[in-house]
Amino acid sequence: MQASAKVPRSRVLRQPQNARYDRATVHGILDAGLIGHLAFAADGWPYVIPMLYARDGERLILHGSVASRLMRSLGNGARACLAVTLLDGFVLARSAFNASVNYRSVVVFGRAISLTAEEEKKHALRVLSDHVLPGRWADIRPPSPKELFVTSVLAMQIETATAKVRTGPPKDDPDDLTWPCWAGVVPLRMVAGEPQPDGSLSAPPDYVLQDARFR
Ligand SMILES: Cc1cc2nc3c(=O)[nH]c(=O)nc-3n(C[C@H](O)[C@H](O)[C@H](O)COP(=O)(O)OP(=O)(O)OC[C@H]3O[C@@H](n4cnc5c(N)ncnc54)[C@H](O)[C@@H]3O)c2cc1C
Repeated sequence: MQASAKVPRSRVLRQPQNARYDRATVHGILDAGLIGHLAFAADGWPYVIPMLYARDGERLILHGSVASRLMRSLGNGARACLAVTLLDGFVLARSAFNASVNYRSVVVFGRAISLTAEEEKKHALRVLSDHVLPGRWADIRPPSPKELFVTSVLAMQIETATAKVRTGPPKDDPDDLTWPCWAGVVPLRMVAGEPQPDGSLSAPPDYVLQDARFR
């Protein structure tokens, strides 16, 4: 990962005090997120596609059908940009102008390559599965050669990455502080519902029941 603050396309201009360029913050947000929006250019158009991802060291793992436009467009080292957003709260100010949201976000620039060796693909898919739900990969049937064949797995090297983090209460104008409406933060988080068995085994495994991220 390059020093992102020195690369113009990776430098935050607005609210630069909220920008973070250090590896630990970038990695922490990437590891806490599940969904990224991947941008790339194909056939003269920009595409932005939401998808699962996982971090494996200094690269991001992405997967999809060998038939998908995204996989065909990106597998040969084309430029891509992935944005990850964690929404942490509504920031309700006394004016629309000062209203905001608390968030942690990351924008990554890099190039992807297609992984072709069977063991490399399996490793990447395990990393992805364990990122989405730690412990699941060890429980499920391993992928068959045919399933691996029809699955494209990409590794996107993180070339530059920027994080942006907003925390805290609204910043109202002093003159607005007497305006008679409620102001403050409404925290937001992702919460899992009750597991719904498909009819086979009724008791969900511990790694589902104890996944602290959703509690
Ligand atoms: C949930 C959410 C809601 C937002 N809503 C708005 C909105 O309604 N209006 C608005 O103007 N802005 C909004 N933002 C902020 C927005 O993402 C940009 O940060 C902002 O538009 C300022 O961009 P810029 O001109 O400084 O940088 P740009 O020139 O647009 O971007 C330059 C570089 O800075 C980095 N960067 C920019 N923004 C981010 C980011 N959020 N996270 C990580 N890296 C970043 C990237 O590397 C990017 O390539 C929102 C952000 C989040 C996470």
